[in-house]
Order: sequence, then C-alpha cells, then structure tokens
Amino acid sequence: MKPANSVLSSFGTTIFETMSRLAQAHGAINLGQGFPEGLEPDDVVAKAADALRDGPNQYPSMMGIPALRTAIAAHDRRFYGLDLDPMEAVMVTSGATEALAACLFGLIEPGDEVVLIEPLYDSYLPIIRRAGGIPKLVRVEPPHWDLPREALAAAFSERTKLIVLNTPMNPAGKVWTPDELSFLAGLLDRHDSYAVCDEVYEHLVYDGRRHTPLMTLPGMGRRCLKIGSAGKIFSLTGWKVGWVVAAPELLAPVAKAHQYLAFTTPPNLQAAVAWGLAKEDSYYQGLTALLTARRDLLAAGLRRVGFQVLDTGGSYFISADFRPLGFNGDDVSFCRHITETAGVAAIPVSTFYQGGDVAHFARFCFAKTDQAIHEAVMRLERHFQG
Ligand code: PMP
Ligand code: GLN
Repeated sequence: MKPANSVLSSFGTTIFETMSRLAQAHGAINLGQGFPEGLEPDDVVAKAADALRDGPNQYPSMMGIPALRTAIAAHDRRFYGLDLDPMEAVMVTSGATEALAACLFGLIEPGDEVVLIEPLYDSYLPIIRRAGGIPKLVRVEPPHWDLPREALAAAFSERTKLIVLNTPMNPAGKVWTPDELSFLAGLLDRHDSYAVCDEVYEHLVYDGRRHTPLMTLPGMGRRCLKIGSAGKIFSLTGWKVGWVVAAPELLAPVAKAHQYLAFTTPPNLQAAVAWGLAKEDSYYQGLTALLTARRDLLAAGLRRVGFQVLDTGGSYFISADFRPLGFNGDDVSFCRHITETAGVAAIPVSTFYQGGDVAHFARFCFAKTDQAIHEAVMRLERHFQG
C-alpha cells in the first residue's frame, strides 16, 4: 500500500474523540469533550424543524443564505459596533473548524511563518502544517496564563503571515484584555501580518469581563478574520454552523478554499441560526448567567474533591490541578484513570501543548446539567475520599 499523506498521518485520533469513546465504553459522565447538555434553546430547534419541513432543501449559495449573512453582520454591529457588509464581508461555513481550515488554506503559502499560542486548539497545527506553514509557538501556562510579551514579539518576523488568536481561550479560559490585544495589534502592524481570530466562545465570558474582538482595534479591520460558531452561541455543537467575517479582499481567498472544502452548509440550520442571532439581549445574558452558575457549581465540587481549581474567565472549561489528590502519574493517565474507574471523563491539558511540562491539569467541561455536575462530583468524591 502506498503511504497516505505524511503530515496528517503523523497525528493521532483527536483527544476529544478518544476520551468520548472511552467515556461511552465505561458509562462515564462525559465532562471531557466540550459540548453542552440541557442548554439547547427549544425555539431555535423548532425553527430548524420548520425549515426542514418547509424547505428549501437544496444547495444554498456557498457564501451562506442572505438571511444568515445579514444576521451575522447585525450581531457584530449590536455587540461590537462593527460595520460589515453582509454580502461582501461575511461567509457562512460548516462550523468554526471549517472556517479555520478555509482561512489557513486560503492564506498560507508554503514557507510562511504562523504564530500560535499554546495551549492550542487541536485543529490548528495539522492544518497549518498541511498548508506548508511553519509554526512559531509561544506558550501561556497555568496557573495564571500570563502573556509572555517578549516571547510573542520574538516569534514575529518579516516572514510571519499570520497569528491564530483564540480568545476566550480553550482550555485556559483566558480572556485577552484590551491591553494585550493592543500589544498584539502593534506586532501585526509592525510585521504586516494577519490574525485569524477564533472567537467561538465570544458570549461565554464571566464575572463582568467583556470579550473584545481584535478586529475592533484601530487599523485591525483590514488585518483580522473573525470566526464565530452557532454551536457555542446556541449550545448546539452538532449543527456545525460557523462563519468568518473579514474585509472583502481578505475574505476572497478564504472563500476560494471554502468552495472546495465544504462549499456550503445545510440551509435549514442556517435559517434557524439567522432567527436565533436576532434574539433579544436577554437570551445572551441568560446564557452567560446559566454557564456562570454551572462553572461555580463544578468549581466548588472539584475543590471539595481536593483539586486545586484555576480561575476560568471564559469558555466551557475549568482546568484543575490534581496533584493534591496524590495521584501518581501524568495528566493523560489521570484522565484515563478517572474515566475508567471513577466514571467521570476529562481531557488532559498537556494534549494542547507540543511538549513541555504542563502535565498535571485535567480540563473539565461545565456546560452540563446541574444533575450531571452533582453526580460527577459525587463519583469523584467517592473515588478519592473512599
Ligand atoms: N475553536 C475552538 C477554540 C473550539 O473549542 C472549537 C470547538 N469546540 C472550535 C473552534 C470548533 O467549533 P465548531 O464546532 O463550530 O467547528
Ligand atoms: N472544541 C471541543 C473541545 O474543546 C471539541 C470539538 C471536537 O471534538 N472536535 O472539547
């Protein structure tokens, strides 16, 4: 048999799939892979059901149905004051994952340098490598996830095509501050580079923090491609409806990639998302409030079990240091251990890094029902406290 593509073959099955399968095999409560439970809005789901029955059910435009492109532009104006032409600056994709791939394939030339900040969401590196990009990695680390500004500046050069910026960050829960974003904006200007901004957790920011899109900073409109995901805004991750907004001249090469990756996205789901994005502010505030309560519930429970729990400013995730529990092993074996023997699945944080020594944190997803969180904490207590 002739070999498959060597870049992609060098990566294993994603940790999310691996841990979800293991959770299923052991009947574990799955706090691993980041998907919500019990938060799906009935009215948005009903709109999709209507749109399935009533149609249309054929290929929509590769750029997305006009109603959704208009709704995305209106959303970005309402929340961030952005002024985007729905027909020129907005493209719907099959999830943020496809949006990311389209941006990276559309912009990277072999040999271009790409700055990345670890911990890294799992799809970035394989796609960048496959596109021929040369990753330049910068680390933020627990417990404070502080931005090492000198290291970030040193990662840029005249060969830097772009940075991938994830804020709020998965799994760190770090929400980039306006000051950190200004520092980055200065580097992009100095090196004439772009930013692919993965902002899927834009509405999941807590304790009065605000999400600031890099694109809203002076001069950044022509440098940023901003990615969103309906999966996160409506707690419907299986829908895989995402989007990218960017200046038309930046969006054009990304559309070239998208037309050969997914081309388009189910029209019925697009219609329901368009309707949902126009929901009143109280929907968005309610989502944040619900998730804040779930975060606090899980954080308190994990502390009772004995974990040292890190602060989470945004996203679905808590990172917790398990060393106080006396477990003798790294995070990969810890997460396997609790999935198989305590019946609770989590994700090892080291899998978001390329090496290094962050090997004693487990990531737990708190976007779950109160009941699931209570039961998970009870199982962990029973396991570790006997
Ligand atoms: N980026 C980050 C940081 C994520 O955590 C995820 C998945 N949860 C995605 C992108 C992918 O989003 P989607 O499901 O819309 O493809
Ligand atoms: N983003 C989700 C997480 O971090 C998982 C998405 C996926 O499984 N590809 O858990």
